[in-house]
Amino acid sequence: ELSKNGWLLDIEKLTLGENIGEGEFGAVYEGVYMGQRVAVKTIKCDVTAQAFLQETMVMTKLQHKNLVRLLGVILHKGLHIVTELMTKGNLVNFLRTRGRSVVNSVQLLRFSLDVCEGMEYLESKKLVHRDLAARNVLISDDNVAKVSDFGLTKVDSKVSDKAKLPVKWTAPEALKKEKFSTKSDVWSYGILLWEIFSYGRQPYPKMSLQEVKDKVEQGYRMEAPEDCPPSVYSLMRVCWEQEPRKRPGFHKLREKLDREMEKLSPGSGS
Ligand code: ATP
Repeated sequence: ELSKNGWLLDIEKLTLGENIGEGEFGAVYEGVYMGQRVAVKTIKCDVTAQAFLQETMVMTKLQHKNLVRLLGVILHKGLHIVTELMTKGNLVNFLRTRGRSVVNSVQLLRFSLDVCEGMEYLESKKLVHRDLAARNVLISDDNVAKVSDFGLTKVDSKVSDKAKLPVKWTAPEALKKEKFSTKSDVWSYGILLWEIFSYGRQPYPKMSLQEVKDKVEQGYRMEAPEDCPPSVYSLMRVCWEQEPRKRPGFHKLREKLDREMEKLSPGSGS
């Protein structure tokens, strides 16, 4: 089916460049495919490759300006997944290396909106991400934030193996009962907002994973990051409602963020 629809790419047309990252299942390289700069994720293990191939089928059906775009796959000594190149890397490193002196609050809100719009699209397709975090948001050459690793998360051992769940990003009901939903993605989005407004800090600083599990269950929540607008902090807090039903959906969150943007930077809305 991949070949029929043009998702099967030709290895001869690919030029591999530098290694730009390490994934759980293999390295990520920069490259050029038919004149376009791309990122290539290589998966060597055949069993894993089969599972990834299944999930890539999901990705072929998703297109949005705030999702990292799949160009196709190459079957050659395992699997190569070819996506658009996000030259400015992941959001955590972006914010950490630039900091408060370079990135202003309008830009932070812009990133927050970008991610929210990508997630609103996934929500509309009834797709659950399960691993939404700033490390899985990538920045394009023109500073647009896009969600990556969607559709691939079901393959990820972090999800199938309870011991490997990203505890600090995972909603309590997902940690305890493996109840993943759009509303558990919304919880993760609240953590991601905290990461953005703290310029890439590790959530729950100085707390162990066990401590986070226990305290959050008892109602503990992170404080607002330094200089975070109170209206943005209250968005985080609704994302962290213990009861999934009480959390807003991504559509509602996007509307609220649009209003914030209008207050902070009138007329700049998209
Ligand atoms: P994890 O599961 O731990 O999040 P992973 O196995 O999913 O990692 P990726 O996050 O996909 O691996 O890739 C690892 C790193 O490679 C990223 O943090 C990023 O720096 C880089 N990278 C991945 N995809 C791209 C891309 N399209 N453009 C630029 N850099 C990328």
